[in-house]
Amino acid sequence: MNQEPIRDSFLSYGKQWIDEEDIKAVTAVLEGDYLTTGPYISNFEEAIAHYVGTKYAVSFANGTAALHAACFAAGISEGDEVITSPLTFAASANCVLYQGGTPIFADVDEKTYNIAPEEIEKKITTKTKAIIPVHFTGQPADLDEITAIAKKYNLIVIEDAAHALGASYQGKRIGSISDMTMFSFHPVKHITTGEGGMITTSNKDYYEKLLQFRSHGITRDPSKLTENHGPWYYEMQFLGLNYRLTDIQAALGLSQLKKINRFLNLRKKYSSMYDEAFKDISSITAPYQDKNGCSSWHLYVIRLDLETLSKTRNEIFNAFHQENIGVNVHYIPVHLFPYYQKLGYKRGICPKAEKLYQEIITLPLFPAMTEKDVEDVINATKKIINLSKKT
Ligand SMILES: *Cc1c(COP(=O)(O)O)cnc(C)c1O
Repeated sequence: MNQEPIRDSFLSYGKQWIDEEDIKAVTAVLEGDYLTTGPYISNFEEAIAHYVGTKYAVSFANGTAALHAACFAAGISEGDEVITSPLTFAASANCVLYQGGTPIFADVDEKTYNIAPEEIEKKITTKTKAIIPVHFTGQPADLDEITAIAKKYNLIVIEDAAHALGASYQGKRIGSISDMTMFSFHPVKHITTGEGGMITTSNKDYYEKLLQFRSHGITRDPSKLTENHGPWYYEMQFLGLNYRLTDIQAALGLSQLKKINRFLNLRKKYSSMYDEAFKDISSITAPYQDKNGCSSWHLYVIRLDLETLSKTRNEIFNAFHQENIGVNVHYIPVHLFPYYQKLGYKRGICPKAEKLYQEIITLPLFPAMTEKDVEDVINATKKIINLSKKT
């Protein structure tokens, strides 16, 4: 009994949606004059700034580069501490290390799985310079509390909104609230440019630093030059990188952004289908939603009550794969990685995130899924949970 998998074909946990319009947008650039740093870059940046409701947006080769640039613009350097969540992709903390700073992990809230403001406050020292909250799964972190803490201790807030394009907090779009906000355009995120990232800000000084950092630390702005040898002249004034996005990618991003409402609506609809299906399954905790935020539903993470089940999380994970459902786990707490362990971060510093990591599974969620795909995931979940009931 139950030997037949729920699906014949494998369903991945996330995937891009590319249509004919996207393809046309990209090929139009290939036939044009600029492949990089042409008109599509500024058009895409303006479109994102307009969409989130802020003044400036600066594009980058990827979200990680964007976070690195934000840490540079924030002036993070050796001796500085930056507080972030352990339950995130490594890049949220690595960006601090790139600048010679020290990431400090503050444990998550048990309900939202976002960084807990009271844990942030416990970790503040005289060296603390910034906070990098991560909007885990697309649900906004507690920005009111985080902003208040930042004000009190004079800290810069850089939001890692890789999951949160289109999310809002107290009616304001994510990207318009803190000093700087990072978005990623990796194929599993809300819109894609293949690889790509963006920082949004309303601060002109950060904006100019971000632009210059993206291009080797070079400026051509006559008002900023210390010398001027002639019309060809430019200056490299600090050590930056080549972190530029191409026009090919920016054209794809612009075309993708036109579909953002459809993408968000489908993500929301499928999440609601999951919510409805799991509400009576006591062994599953569906994602809790705080009323101050409006999630963009990047990931759908369920928590298993393993005490009520006869199987381990790993067995349940494998059972999903046997059903051809590509579940995943988000995330391995960053401080548990060998690199961070070698740096001296100890197991046990974020007990809630560490326990959560043992109990979570990410179900497939992306706009290009069909309702039938969602039903397959629901049926597989029910089947696996039923077969894992303690007798
Ligand atoms: C995707 C992601 C990043 C990094 O973005 P890239 O574009 O892949 O470099 C950073 N933080 C989080 C939480 C992410 O999910």
